[in-house]
Amino acid sequence: MKVVAQSASVASGGNWHDETTVLHGDAGLASDASVVAPIHYSATFRAGTADEFADMANTPRHPGFYTRYGNPVHKRVEAILAELEGTETALLMGSGMGAISTTILGLLSAGDHVIAQQRHYMSTSKLFEEVLPRFGVHSTIVDQTDLQAIAGAIRPGTKLIMVETPVNPTLSITDLAAVAELARPRGILTVADNTFASPLNQKPHALGIDIVVHSATKYFGGHHDITAGAVCCSRELAERIWTMHTTLGAVLSPMDAWLLLRGLRTLALRMERINANALGLAQWLQAQPKIEQVFYPGLQSHPQHELARRQMTGFGAVIAFSIKGGFEATSRFVSALKLATHAVSLGGVETLVVHTAAMWAGTMTEAQMQAAGIEPNFVRMSVGVEHIEDLKADLSAALKGDPQ
Ligand SMILES: *Cc1c(COP(=O)(O)O)cnc(C)c1O
Repeated sequence: MKVVAQSASVASGGNWHDETTVLHGDAGLASDASVVAPIHYSATFRAGTADEFADMANTPRHPGFYTRYGNPVHKRVEAILAELEGTETALLMGSGMGAISTTILGLLSAGDHVIAQQRHYMSTSKLFEEVLPRFGVHSTIVDQTDLQAIAGAIRPGTKLIMVETPVNPTLSITDLAAVAELARPRGILTVADNTFASPLNQKPHALGIDIVVHSATKYFGGHHDITAGAVCCSRELAERIWTMHTTLGAVLSPMDAWLLLRGLRTLALRMERINANALGLAQWLQAQPKIEQVFYPGLQSHPQHELARRQMTGFGAVIAFSIKGGFEATSRFVSALKLATHAVSLGGVETLVVHTAAMWAGTMTEAQMQAAGIEPNFVRMSVGVEHIEDLKADLSAALKGDPQ
């Protein structure tokens, strides 16, 4: 089939605003006259001639050879994500963890040294602390808010620095430009998990980060209905990661890629409402007598608010807060919510709430939770696009419902 071999990134030549990119960034890849992209629900693609088959089989990241290698719907999503992140290209995968583990395994070998954060998405921490050591890749885990600690962890064999910002459980911020400045001159690759911010709020590549990874399950899909992941970087790095991807096989189904494309069309609109709702709610929560503390990068009370303002244009959906009265009061609070949905994940249209300590009680000891910074009375809320007054009313009733 006649489609361009690589993702045609920067469809507008880099001239569009993100609001336009999410709608038209894939226009150059349209294969017919339909206004909405067709779903290429096919695992394999026909070649016309022997020469064409040889070409399809031997072109890295060919969009129409075999779906584990690539699919035309993937290419359309990848074109939009590359343009949003300002990278040459993007590579879609079946989940955020698929994207992260494939990237890391694709770039490292036994004997390499990695610097990772003290706080990461839990499965990412597991990758660095439990999985990679089995393959001879060792990591130094540092406090992500301490640049000196990051600089001090660099040694001759350091190949990669992994960062994530903002990050659980208290939305701490990593200084992306400063990390890039430490890494670049030494030839160390940098990877940033930009899931919590989204490229609408933060563009790590523009700050010097080499590779941006995403759980597209979150804001990109935006409707809590698919899992997906993405890696945004240069063509050269993407080809190396893609080679590992064809081996590990964290493939996104064409249907889910299509749902992701549909979700992306409203990303800018959703982020606008989410940013406004979350900031409004964070400020409101701070004034509630039963709330102990609120963690949100957009609040002046956030210890890294100035840094957050420097590298972000909006602060995203996730607010963490603690309830007076400990684990039990927090448990009662989340059970009493009627509008906010009691479920994990983030970045979708519905507001979701979890009692963080309850989530990990089955797999972590109290000491482990303490080491991970998870207090028994922490609540994590991903603010959706509902009317803010309805959310306040729900939170207010659940806080009042507590007899303490
Ligand atoms: C959800 C999430 C992931 C993992 O993504 P999946 O799509 O669930 O595999 C990785 N990093 C962050 C920051 C996340 O929020």
